[in-house]
Amino acid sequence: SVDAGAAMEKIRAAGLLRTRGLIGGKWVDAYDGKTIEVQNPATGEVLANVACMGNRETADAITSANTTFYTWSKLTASERSKALRKWHDLLMSHKEELALLMTLEQGKPMKEALGEVNYGASFIEFFAEEAKRVYGDIIPPTLADRRLLVLKQPIGVVGAITPWNFPLAMITRKVGPALACGCTVVVKPSEFTPLTALAAADLALQAGIPAGALNVVMGNAPEIGDELMQSTQVRKITFTGSTAVGKKLMAGSANTVKKVSLELGGNAPCIVFDDADIDVAVKGSLAAKFRNSGQTCVCANRILVQEGIYEKFASAFVKAVQSLQVGNGLEESTSQ
Ligand code: ADP
Repeated sequence: SVDAGAAMEKIRAAGLLRTRGLIGGKWVDAYDGKTIEVQNPATGEVLANVACMGNRETADAITSANTTFYTWSKLTASERSKALRKWHDLLMSHKEELALLMTLEQGKPMKEALGEVNYGASFIEFFAEEAKRVYGDIIPPTLADRRLLVLKQPIGVVGAITPWNFPLAMITRKVGPALACGCTVVVKPSEFTPLTALAAADLALQAGIPAGALNVVMGNAPEIGDELMQSTQVRKITFTGSTAVGKKLMAGSANTVKKVSLELGGNAPCIVFDDADIDVAVKGSLAAKFRNSGQTCVCANRILVQEGIYEKFASAFVKAVQSLQVGNGLEESTSQ
């Protein structure tokens, strides 16, 4: 178990407590000086005040990403791969600080936060490798005097909007592939969990990912979203979050015909049949329902149990739920 004050000190000492946005490689305040509080959900304490940005800062972040696109996309795949690999290594060597930061601002138990750093960094490792394998195709032509080739090319600036439940992994899963193939990115993390995103971006700069290739703005979500939507320079939107916001982003992307990738809310029943092994069923349902305190897109939102096993399952499940420890994620006994 760790004390929150000591955890913050450790993060600060590692230079990873960033509270301003990242535009063109510079850490900047909101242009009107506004900030928003980031709270520790376990205690309600304010951890930091971060820049509360809107459309003007987003416009500048897009411009910087667009300018950098012309140099970043011209590097060889191997050069981009090396920078990504270094970013992965830095994420892993700062695993503890990143996990502490995540537990402080998001609330997940430290063990899960450490797991998320591994998981989040693995996307950067994977795409560092895949960067070198963006092959095209040669297609048999239908006319004798033609040659058909498919070239895969980076599309341009990508806008990435991410939720609070996986403050690192949802970002690396979007930014890794985009940077690997030569795109540049404007990230908008959740206002609840911007500190992990900013720390990860700091490590990206240290890894040699050039200023402007990865920008981070946060604050007024609809303003930032609208600016990303209406920009003709943003060529793709990638989003993980609610279905309602996803629909807005899809509609908003139509006018400039952006590519859109959406990972929206799930509707996930968990079904237990009469012939189920009760221990396996309880263990599986518990994980499906309570992983990340029930805040993952595939968490079970109803459990359907066949009549013959209902009583037995219900009492075993209740007992298992009662054994879950709700508390501060920095304490070792906490599971929720
Ligand atoms: P969830 O309910 O799963 O947390 P949300 O869709 O509310 O999902 O939030 C996911 C992300 O979408 C967050 O970064 C949030 O700030 C952002 N967001 C919310 N509203 C908008 C909007 N109108 N435009 C762009 N992004 C938005």
